[in-house]
Amino acid sequence: MNNNATIAAISTPPGKGGVAVIRISGDRAIEIAEKIFLPRSKKTVSDVAERTQIYGDILYCGEIIDDGMLTVFKAPFSYTGENTAEISCHGGILITEKVLESALCEGAQLAAPGEFTKRAFINGKLTLTETEAISALLEAESTEQIRLSSRKSRKLLSNKIDVIREGLCSVLSSMYARIDYPDEDLGDFSDEEMLRRLKKILFEMEDLKRTYKTGKAVNEGIKTVICGKPNVGKSSVYNLLIGRDAAIVTDIKGTTRDVLTEKIPLGKVMLSLSDTAGIRASENADPIERIGIERSYNEISQSELILAVFDRSAEIECEDEKLLSDISKFNTAKIAILNKSDKHALLDKERLAGRFDTVIEVSALAGAKDAYNSLLNAVSSLFTDEKIVIGNEAIISSARQNAELTRAISHLRLAIEALEMGISQDATSSDIERALGAIAELDGISVTEEIITDIFSKFCVGK
Ligand code: GDP
Repeated sequence: MNNNATIAAISTPPGKGGVAVIRISGDRAIEIAEKIFLPRSKKTVSDVAERTQIYGDILYCGEIIDDGMLTVFKAPFSYTGENTAEISCHGGILITEKVLESALCEGAQLAAPGEFTKRAFINGKLTLTETEAISALLEAESTEQIRLSSRKSRKLLSNKIDVIREGLCSVLSSMYARIDYPDEDLGDFSDEEMLRRLKKILFEMEDLKRTYKTGKAVNEGIKTVICGKPNVGKSSVYNLLIGRDAAIVTDIKGTTRDVLTEKIPLGKVMLSLSDTAGIRASENADPIERIGIERSYNEISQSELILAVFDRSAEIECEDEKLLSDISKFNTAKIAILNKSDKHALLDKERLAGRFDTVIEVSALAGAKDAYNSLLNAVSSLFTDEKIVIGNEAIISSARQNAELTRAISHLRLAIEALEMGISQDATSSDIERALGAIAELDGISVTEEIITDIFSKFCVGK
């Protein structure tokens, strides 16, 4: 990527549409727009007031090929922080490509995926957490994900990170001042005062870290597997959660052989939900079903939530026992679903005691709505914090953000412990510097090229 080049790309999705947008950004954006766009009014493109749309003709090699709208943004008041021109033309596939080609012929370079957003970041228009939120917004599949990635949420997180960073900077500068000018009266720089300030910042950081559980469940989703012996109602529960008959429901054992997976919102959270083959002794299964059972175990081992289904109208059998013992090996959240509650209960619940985070009794067949709500409540209470209102507070939602924050917290804890043990501020300051480094990286104040490339690779061309 040449950060000085003027870049252009089609910013709307590929395919036919009513309107398509070609975005040009860089020093020469307005000059290029002037060459390929002829306003119908007497104005020239460079005379157009910024953030104003004008109507005109679009040129390709000097020939008018379409009419459309041009919006001009002058640096720094644009998405990228650079001069930007956006041309809206009719959304045919070929005409859109021709308009882009026209910009390229006049000297623009084809933008790489995510390059507009990368420039916005480099030019200080967006912080790193804001760019991650925009990336999540483009991928959003639920209203809660949209709320979590909204401009308001993005700003809340960036502001919170600013407060923490400024707090650490202020403590460090006080410490440096005391070390460099020990004889000056520069205010209260006692160890007690430093400890008080650091503990306050640690509290803020831990508070932010606690939001990750909810943020992750909303943003990244929970890898969930439905398992159980054949015929207990796994496919019925799967269909109930996804809201349609995707899995075949029959009373013939071994019908589900492959793993079915779908992403669905459940209340605030996203589930990446897998229905698996019924688990039973391999000697009773044919070779294809055996492969299905193996895949079921593979799914279970990689999941974050196990929904173990049992038939409440039957006694626990050795196949249920096998499942119970197999899943006990995983330190994963577990919900027992005692299905078929419309029938006479025979299952001894005591046999499940202590093995699950939650046990719910449902009928996927006769009480679908209640069953759905019971599952929603059980999952929400395990994976979200009811007190957190998405859109009203700073929330971290990516593994990268959580890792940086965790790193910052552990350095700050070390610094606090050292001060409490009477170790000098001079010696403690290096841990505070490391905590500050991690917080700075959290919002991309100083990030390695590698992290930046990884984040922007998730964007499409034109964003
Ligand atoms: P799976 O093999 O575990 O996926 O089970 P299915 O979802 O295919 O269901 C097996 C059989 O149990 C089917 O005949 C379903 O109609 C029946 N079934 C599923 N859920 C219930 C329920 O809540 N009550 C009753 N009475 N039957 C159910």
